[in-house]
Formats: sequence, C-alpha cells, structure tokens
Amino acid sequence: MDLDIAGATDQLLGEGDIPPVHEVNAAGASPFLLTADHYGRVLPHALGDLGVAESDLVRHIAWDIGIAGVAERLVKMLDAHLIAQRYSRLVIDCNRPPGVASSIPIISEATAIPGNESLSAAAKQMRRREIFDPYHARIGAVIDARVQVGKPTVLVALHSFTPVYYGEPRPWHIGTLYHRDTVLPRLMLQHLRGESDLVVGDNQPYAVSDITDYTIPVHGEARGLINTGIEIRQDLIMDESGQQQWAERLARILREIEATLHKEGMA
Ligand SMILES: [Zn+2]
Repeated sequence: MDLDIAGATDQLLGEGDIPPVHEVNAAGASPFLLTADHYGRVLPHALGDLGVAESDLVRHIAWDIGIAGVAERLVKMLDAHLIAQRYSRLVIDCNRPPGVASSIPIISEATAIPGNESLSAAAKQMRRREIFDPYHARIGAVIDARVQVGKPTVLVALHSFTPVYYGEPRPWHIGTLYHRDTVLPRLMLQHLRGESDLVVGDNQPYAVSDITDYTIPVHGEARGLINTGIEIRQDLIMDESGQQQWAERLARILREIEATLHKEGMA
C-alpha cells in the first residue's frame, strides 16, 4: 500500500488548517451561552472543494450566512460567551446527530456534494473526531464548568435561514426553534411579537427534534438548561449594518428576558 495515501486517511486537519472551535469572551459574565453550529464555511485542505462549485460554497447550503457577524457583535453587547464552529456544514453538520443522512450530506437542497459520496466509515469517523467532537466536547466542558461554580446558564443556539427554500419564499424575519423548553421560547416569542415591524415564526421555519438537531437536545434539554434556538432570515443580515441592527435588537430583548428570569429566580 502506498504509505502517503494510507497516512492521508489518518488525519483530516493538517498544517494550514484552522481549529474547528472558535470562542469569544469565555469569561463573559452573562448567563447567556451562545452557540453557532454553522458559523463558518471553511473546508479542510485535504477535502479540496468537495466537488462543489465556488458559487454553491458561498450559499446557505454551506453555512449560516450572516450569523457570524451577528454572533460576534451580540456576544460583546451581552458580555456573553460564544462557542462557534468554523468548518462548513457540508464537511459535517454540527447540528445533526452523527450517522443521520444530513450529517454528511451527499445532496443539500438540490446540490450534489460529490466529495461526500461513498465515504468509508473511517472517513466519516475522521470528520466526526476532528470537527464535530471537539466542538461539542468544548460546549459540554464549558457547561460543566459553569454548573460547577453555580453560574446560571441559558443556552441560545444562533442560526440563519435562506429567504427562499425549494422555490418557496419564507415570510418570517426571525423564528424561535425549540422542543421541550417551556420558558425561554415563550419569552422570546412574547418579546419578538412586541416588535411591530417583525413577522415572527413560532417553531418556523424549523422545529427542533432529536433527529434533526443536536445542540439543543444534547446541551440544552439533556442538561436541563433553559434554551432556545433563534433563526434570522439571511437577507436581513447580509451586510454589516444589518448584522449590527439585529445584534442590537437581540441584545436588548435578551437583556429584558434576563431581567425577567432573574426576577423569577431562574437565571
Ligand atoms: Zn444553522
């Protein structure tokens, strides 16, 4: 066997590849712990372009357009802690249970991902081991540490959604995503609906489930944390001024919610 080829299958990330986990303001005082599973669209050098055209690699199938700019601003405004994942969801989706078809998609919306076809179990495992696992291990460790020192923790998973999906325009500006939490999504909806210019989705454009999601079920629900997902429509946060406006709006709303939770002894 050719040693170089054998060696290449041992490791996905090499010299020149960045670490998957990106963190901001780890010492932040806020109870809000922000995550961004689809923050980046970087591809490991070893995977080339996955056989996907550059014009598709900048689309929503590869990442959550605009959410990085919102997350970076919001985390500072709230003095919160952000944990984000830099590699494209086309490499491995950090908000899917490993093993489901959409974890390493061979087709995303209508776009084929040739570099994901016919992968060996070892190749799939390598993506999990080097990207998915470190990201989720870090979130888990941060929650452990916060619990240990009695620091209140409210998990907010940040996402963005495409304005048109399979040709169907989506009317919502923002949506909450949730499953078992009965506290935070209700407060988020109440506050968002108080903003007269917004069309707000209640578990739209997506609802959280154990099969289609990972971060909320595993780090929020299973750990007993108050949690919600937030989805912002991508055309609203394409540029820096949109990202700034949405970060300011969410910071204001989340601060109000924090005050309510505090009053009720929940954060
Ligand atoms: Zn997302």
